[in-house]
Amino acid sequence: MHIAFAASECVPFSKTGGLADVVGALPRALAALGHKVSVYLPRYRQTKLADPQTVVRSITIPFDDKYRFCSVVTAGANTPAGVRFYFVEYPPYFDREALYGSPAGDYPDNAERFALFSRAVIEASKVLGVPHVFHCHDWQSALVPVMLRTIYAEDPAFRDVATVFTIHNMGYQGLFPSDTLPLLMLPWDLLTMSKMEFFGQVNFLKGALVLSDYVTTVSKKYSQEIQTTEYGFGLEGVLRDRAATVTGILNGVDYDEWSPQTDKFTVAKYSPQDLSGKLQCKKDLLNAFGIANVDANSKVPVIGIVSRFAAQKGFDLIAQIMDRLAREEMIMVVLGSGDKPYEEMFVRMNKQFPNKIACKVAFDNAIAHKIEAGSDMFLMPSRYEPCGLNQIYSLKYGTVPVVRATGGLDDTIEPWDARTGKGTGFKFSDYTGEALLATIKQALLSYQDPSSWQTLMRNGMSRDFSWGASAREYGKIYDRARQVRASADAVAASDLKKEPVLG
Ligand code: ADP
Repeated sequence: MHIAFAASECVPFSKTGGLADVVGALPRALAALGHKVSVYLPRYRQTKLADPQTVVRSITIPFDDKYRFCSVVTAGANTPAGVRFYFVEYPPYFDREALYGSPAGDYPDNAERFALFSRAVIEASKVLGVPHVFHCHDWQSALVPVMLRTIYAEDPAFRDVATVFTIHNMGYQGLFPSDTLPLLMLPWDLLTMSKMEFFGQVNFLKGALVLSDYVTTVSKKYSQEIQTTEYGFGLEGVLRDRAATVTGILNGVDYDEWSPQTDKFTVAKYSPQDLSGKLQCKKDLLNAFGIANVDANSKVPVIGIVSRFAAQKGFDLIAQIMDRLAREEMIMVVLGSGDKPYEEMFVRMNKQFPNKIACKVAFDNAIAHKIEAGSDMFLMPSRYEPCGLNQIYSLKYGTVPVVRATGGLDDTIEPWDARTGKGTGFKFSDYTGEALLATIKQALLSYQDPSSWQTLMRNGMSRDFSWGASAREYGKIYDRARQVRASADAVAASDLKKEPVLG
């Protein structure tokens, strides 16, 4: 089967979060199962290509104000077998400092930017190979299924092409003023409650949820949560209406990148059989964060955080308990960037507790690896978490996750039971500072018993979340999406036959 991915980020070309890890790894796992995979991405300023070759010289994208002309290039050498990467090139939109916005906020022309990208993907596929399935991800490529079922509905090239849409985060929907529709040459009748209208605005994500043949999200638990008011961000009804074609497939992780035995960013390697290298990684981490008295402090448990600084990630809870947590014997190292108030909060905490809390405000992959390897525990108290990757990396590094039981965090972490020696981490349910503090204290107490702590570490290290099983599940969903499309075609054809003959 030929599957074409359309997404806004992908490791190693562009990244702001977990979406990039998924789009970097899943196509390779699908190719290993024998599928042909094309991946379409925007070519940003940060996209480094070894040997770019133009494969489509000019694609005309009509907008209401004027035509825009973009091209498509390939990555050149060094791409994994069975996967072709294509980059939509339109420098006025993508040759910018960042992917989605500046510190002042989202780029004001994001609707145009990602509409151009989506339409270019459809047009380019006519030249580079129409796939059996378009697999689109998050609001930035949500217009692919919308366009296929509206402006391209009569195009015979796409009549049988199925669409699968994966939600990586319901919190980002692509909301724009209603007059965006005519600007993008999309029909006004999309602006109805049953299609893309959302409180007077146009909602890209909603369009994909309504018009794709199959909808997936990145864990079983999250696929249920987003059908409730608490987690649905106003789209829970849309998802409930099509519950029969909504499912959750847990993300895998790429152990070529994230393994303590081969990690290229750490000073020492270690394995479940020989954990000794972890202590060297811990000392290196403390050094990197400027913690004094490294040798003495290496006996103190280190709690690591690597995160986007966003409300979703539970930083308000950390703020509530910080003063009390600082009285415990522990060190916290934090790497993150994003919302200014959270950045400032950690910088303030560092001033207040210089020997307890250290923070780097940055997006830095090498430091992220050092934290996974050098910490004893990894903290993710998320308000919601579609899948979460860091807790899965942490398991492999023997860095015990302390998480809130939501979405993928709940699906991947089993609670530790010291009596039976079973479990992989610590989790709490109530979204309160008290529940978080109690759970961290429980973890700190467990750390005091080295032999049972090592059992806990090894339990996590032995878990396998590689992509193979999830890729096979996606294969089944592509088949089902094609069945859904075939039956929609059959209904459309019989409706045509039923039309009354006039005259
Ligand atoms: P989300 O996609 O919501 O940000 P995930 O846990 O699914 O959360 O994925 C986050 C990914 O981004 C992980 O690979 C993580 O290591 C990486 N990451 C997040 N923040 C940073 C940062 N400040 N520096 C380096 N990597 C980061």
